[in-house]
Amino acid sequence: MPKKYDVIIVGAGPAGLMAARAAGENGLKVALLDRKAEIPKIHRSCGGVIGVNHYTFGQSATFHDEQHSFAFPVTGFTIPYAGPYQNIYGYQIYSPGGKRLELGDFAELKKDPVKNRTGVATSKELLLRGILENLNKYAVEIYPGANITSVRKTPQGVMVGGGGEYFEGSFLIAADGINSRIARNLGFNEGRRFFGTSCDTSWEIEGLDCPDAEGFIFMITPAGLFSMLPAAETNHYHVYALTYRRDKAPAELIHYLFYKDPTFSSWFKQSKLLHATSCVINVFSPVERPYKDNVLLIGDACWRREISNVGALSCGWMAGQAAAIALNEGNRNERGLRSYLEWYERYFYKPHGAATPSALDFQDYLSPEELDYLAGLPGRKLPQTMEFIEMVRLIGRTYAELMSTISDERPGILERLITLRENRDADMEQRVRSGFPNFLTM
Ligand SMILES: Cc1cc2nc3c(=O)[nH]c(=O)nc-3n(C[C@H](O)[C@H](O)[C@H](O)COP(=O)(O)OP(=O)(O)OC[C@H]3O[C@@H](n4cnc5c(N)ncnc54)[C@H](O)[C@@H]3O)c2cc1C
Repeated sequence: MPKKYDVIIVGAGPAGLMAARAAGENGLKVALLDRKAEIPKIHRSCGGVIGVNHYTFGQSATFHDEQHSFAFPVTGFTIPYAGPYQNIYGYQIYSPGGKRLELGDFAELKKDPVKNRTGVATSKELLLRGILENLNKYAVEIYPGANITSVRKTPQGVMVGGGGEYFEGSFLIAADGINSRIARNLGFNEGRRFFGTSCDTSWEIEGLDCPDAEGFIFMITPAGLFSMLPAAETNHYHVYALTYRRDKAPAELIHYLFYKDPTFSSWFKQSKLLHATSCVINVFSPVERPYKDNVLLIGDACWRREISNVGALSCGWMAGQAAAIALNEGNRNERGLRSYLEWYERYFYKPHGAATPSALDFQDYLSPEELDYLAGLPGRKLPQTMEFIEMVRLIGRTYAELMSTISDERPGILERLITLRENRDADMEQRVRSGFPNFLTM
């Protein structure tokens, strides 16, 4: 006999935990299932940054240092956070020789952190634990170690099963993350475009010898692109290596950065490795309508690469509310969840759903010296942003204005940039061919 609930939630990351809280606050009987034995533990790479003071998918967050909480004024909820944190002010991009393109004047911005920070680096484990601990006030039953392997429609709604246990609810909220098994099993991935498989590894370190490290820092090296950002504790950082290629292993890449790169390895001479995580991500285009047969996909489960912590928390909140409205109205169907589906359409799919990632591997086309020349060319700091897409647009606009200078001074670079642009589709095709499951048959 299945255990019966109003709502079943699979996945207790930020999206699933917030869905459980919102449904619980509305008096629903909820089962929250996660395959992890200890739910808030983070095994998959995540920087733990909460973007603040700007809009992410039309949602926003602010951090209140003294109240130890994040507020989400657009959606209307708060979450507690009393752990350590560091402020983040924007992006910086380093060329192979160490020339820096800065988005934001960190020294100036740091004078007023509350107003000027664009992100707060948290301990994601503590953040999730704070939400989880609140759930004991509600009729939310939590099942750690429940790896869900089957889903099927029933006359009453939907039933999920794993490890010999079955759970039935009027709705299933699937918050099982980027490589969602539920999305795959129920056919949500059919018709989604596939953009390759990225393998990431992340080292959390203590100690770093890099100027103005209070931002999201990219390092272009001859071996590939690396990134780094502050972690929650003072003087702690996350360093990431990422690759879509099968001839490069992320672990080898990160060793290259720390021990061999002629420019950046000096930053890490005194660093101590604290913790390593990794993840494999199949990058698909977002799901247009994330609902089918009483199953609602939320968070990364229906998105492209990373819906972000702010996006995932907001999705969870809205999904829990929508389930409560549907059950109050007696609409155990798609119409019942319309408040969620309209919100997702408006803030997520319509503005961002069709955007396609591109394979722009500058280091494969330009020499380190040429990349140094380009990084030094603007000769000024660009405006601050924490939006990745806005950063790409800003850089695109800046270099579009500099094209005639590049053409006069370094025509060879211009030629190679044109080739990079012309090869964009072919390079993406290569990524797709070496992605899961294609590379298994190559
Ligand atoms: C390298 C990297 C760095 C990142 N850094 C940041 C950052 O600094 N800031 C930011 O905003 N975002 C960041 N992100 C993105 C962020 O981690 C995600 O967008 C966010 O965690 C999505 O939340 P979610 O709840 O949808 O999914 P997840 O956090 O992935 O949670 C999914 C949950 O489902 C569970 N699960 C999966 N399958 C099953 C199953 N079959 N049965 C039961 N349980 C299951 C998992 O155990 C997990 O707990 C980063 C992502 C990556 C890859």
